[in-house]
Amino acid sequence: MEILYKSTRDSSKRLTASQAVLQGLSEDGGLFIPTSIPGLDKSLKELSSLDYRGLAYEVMKLFFTDYTEEELKKCIDNAYDDKFDTEEIVPLVEADGAYYIELFHGATIAFKDMALSILPHLMTTAAKKNNISNDIVILTATSGDTGKAALAGFDSVPGTKIIVFYPKGGVSFIQERQMVTQAGENTCVIGINGNFDDAQTAVKKIFSDDAMKAELNAKGYQFSSANSINIGRLFPQVVYYVFSYCKLLSEGKIGEGEKVNIVVPTGNFGNILAAYYAKQIGLPVNKFICASNENKVLFDFFGTGVYDKNRQFNLTNSPSMDILISSNLERLIYLIAGEDSDKTKEFMKNLVSGGKYEITADMKAKLADFEAGFATQDETLARIKSLYDNTGYVLDTHTAVASYVYDKYRKESGDQTKTLIASTASPFKFTPNVMKAIAPDKISDDNFAMADELSKLANVAVPKAIEEIKTAPIKHTKVVDVKDMPDAVRDFLN
Ligand SMILES: *Cc1c(COP(=O)(O)O)cnc(C)c1O
Repeated sequence: MEILYKSTRDSSKRLTASQAVLQGLSEDGGLFIPTSIPGLDKSLKELSSLDYRGLAYEVMKLFFTDYTEEELKKCIDNAYDDKFDTEEIVPLVEADGAYYIELFHGATIAFKDMALSILPHLMTTAAKKNNISNDIVILTATSGDTGKAALAGFDSVPGTKIIVFYPKGGVSFIQERQMVTQAGENTCVIGINGNFDDAQTAVKKIFSDDAMKAELNAKGYQFSSANSINIGRLFPQVVYYVFSYCKLLSEGKIGEGEKVNIVVPTGNFGNILAAYYAKQIGLPVNKFICASNENKVLFDFFGTGVYDKNRQFNLTNSPSMDILISSNLERLIYLIAGEDSDKTKEFMKNLVSGGKYEITADMKAKLADFEAGFATQDETLARIKSLYDNTGYVLDTHTAVASYVYDKYRKESGDQTKTLIASTASPFKFTPNVMKAIAPDKISDDNFAMADELSKLANVAVPKAIEEIKTAPIKHTKVVDVKDMPDAVRDFLN
């Protein structure tokens, strides 16, 4: 069945999957969404014999229907290879009665690798399919993590170039090191004299500059963005929920048709939305549990039906979830609004003008599958410690938010349903905070020494990603003023 894509702000729009991958965001500001929901065409039992790549094909073929089998399999093989430090790609670990889906075995030891490993291949294939001969230039402003994951994904992919701007002095030592040591002829990392918002605003301006667009087009380039609203990032994330369920099935931990809960530490709402799509295509899910940190806009939304970003922004120890506008939520809003693009547009307009909107009682009733909770910073660290003390398993701070929320939910509801928890980062990515939780006496300024300590305590080897940046040569040293960012782009492309 061919699946086409429409916009959450214009239901009449029709694009193929590859066109939607190339465009990223719809011109009307909406997000692309499938016009109909496909279903798995094999039983979960049959699928449970497949490895990650095999299963990725069975899931992704449902959404990327204009890619041929050969094209899609090539994208998958290029993405999920020895960039991952385990042959399994996504291991499942049981601790304290829940199953942790370890999504951090890729190049940057965090979950964004799952999608950013394959996006470049989906994009270059899409360009070929749509007779675009221009090279694709990815422009990104980063506050730390996404930039590196995008660099690693696009590193040396033919037909692409990537330019990442980061606030000089505004990212962690490890984050900067990871970026400035990035290999690949097609990569470019530039520090800016300004903060993340300055970088973001300037990138958006470059994107919408028609003269610059024409100038690049003449040189054989076109811009694209790798942000998390692209369907080329969303749907590859559906795979690991199905994969993990199949693993429980083949290990006899659950029976055929048995429902599971899925808990996700949430920021932009991409990862949990992928879980929601997993259910749509046939995965038996009982509850989706949305876990927030102190920036608990989503917790409040699920409780009250009011989305309100007018509040203090907290910098927490789970920084990748420090978000007040969860862009991917727009897709869920559209679905529960009965796929009404006018209504969706209205909500989003209110979000821009007044910083909030309230959904109707009808819409709220359609959210019955969702539970929500949040963890404070102290609760997050306490959860890392108690799980470590009881089981020896060490969580990163983001996963600990999910684990805390789940533990509380389980105690309060008595729900005994088997539960999958998305584990979104390696504890080695956030070593100082993890050490603060389990071995405060070992905290030091030397990140690498702390990683060695953590390795001993957790009984887990220091990941390759950390070992590598210890010695890798620094390749990117350029720092520019915000006003000079367009020229820096021109320089790199010349
Ligand atoms: C991005 C990120 C999240 C949040 O995922 P969303 O898809 O934005 O909800 C959670 N944990 C980590 C470590 C992340 O990098």
